[in-house]
Amino acid sequence: MWQRLIEKAEKEHRLCEGEIAALLSSPAAEEFLAAAADRVRKRYVGDGVHLRGLIEFSNICRRSCLYCGLRRENEKAERYRLPPEEIVRLARKARGYGYKTVVLQGGEDSFWNVDRLSPVLREIRALGLVITLSIGECSEAEYRALKEAGASRFLLRIETTDRELYERLDPGMSFAARCACLASLRRLGYEVGTGSLVGLPGQSVASLAHDILFFQALDADMVGIGPFIPNGETPLGKAAAGDIRLTRRMVSLVRLLLPEANIPATTAMETLARGARAGILRAGANVVMPNVTEGDFRRKYALYPGKAYVRDTPEECRLSLREELSQMGRFVAEDAGFRRRRSIEDT
Ligand code: SAM
Repeated sequence: MWQRLIEKAEKEHRLCEGEIAALLSSPAAEEFLAAAADRVRKRYVGDGVHLRGLIEFSNICRRSCLYCGLRRENEKAERYRLPPEEIVRLARKARGYGYKTVVLQGGEDSFWNVDRLSPVLREIRALGLVITLSIGECSEAEYRALKEAGASRFLLRIETTDRELYERLDPGMSFAARCACLASLRRLGYEVGTGSLVGLPGQSVASLAHDILFFQALDADMVGIGPFIPNGETPLGKAAAGDIRLTRRMVSLVRLLLPEANIPATTAMETLARGARAGILRAGANVVMPNVTEGDFRRKYALYPGKAYVRDTPEECRLSLREELSQMGRFVAEDAGFRRRRSIEDT
């Protein structure tokens, strides 16, 4: 039965929630799903892998997400905030490594308001880099000002489309507000990235299937899927980690149903299983976000324990990645990696 569903997804890029859930629940379908997703990836976005240099510029956060090591109640977190000139220096280094895009990611840190962040964005833009922000929820006016200062993409995962679960795991936050942020970003003309955590305690396969329909309805430009990894310093510290194989099936289904999207092979995957990044790149992903944060700050940006590549330098990450890609018959894409809209007839 699942062979027919995979064929349909590969041809039509449409499945209903029950069909997606059936594939997510079939470990036996995994390699077939991955192969179909890899064909669709090749047909729609090609063999180039886009590299986005990740700068983790603050681990200070006003939020209390039960799964996240940056939550404000975590007293063990060694907090830091990179100074503006250091952020620009890392961006310049990223450009030197050949990266065309930097992703500025941080907790929801009120220090980094629009007035402080805008000059940093202008300086980075002047380096010729495309800027992706991943700084959580802001007002539409703030998103607009940040766009005017030079940001053109924004990553804001919905985390889960199970409203009740979302509001339980993200106390004080509302699912409607998260959706409103995504709608604002879309209205303002950002390239919009979203995504979910796989394996959150209490999450159903049906809700994961619903997540993919949500990404389709949003017409997401980027979709980041990562397994939940328990952090001992959070209330979910004793929960089981997300299933890496289920996460892989989820990535493949995202590729089949959003064929043009940019899909990263996430660090969380590599953290749970060394070598998983290559497996995800062969199962639909076409983006890697090498960390360009330097020194001890890499360790201190501790969403979860055991983060992959923490001890490597940005230079080592870059070299090993190029090697890994060429062994897979893939290459580093030379353009900035904006989503290319193509009709099925073009492919
Ligand atoms: N504050 C911003 C936001 O909310 O989008 C960006 C930073 S936040 C730390 C980035 C992402 O980390 C979240 O969207 C979440 O999916 C992921 N994350 C947090 N805790 C995690 C965990 N324990 N395991 C895996 N991913 C986690």
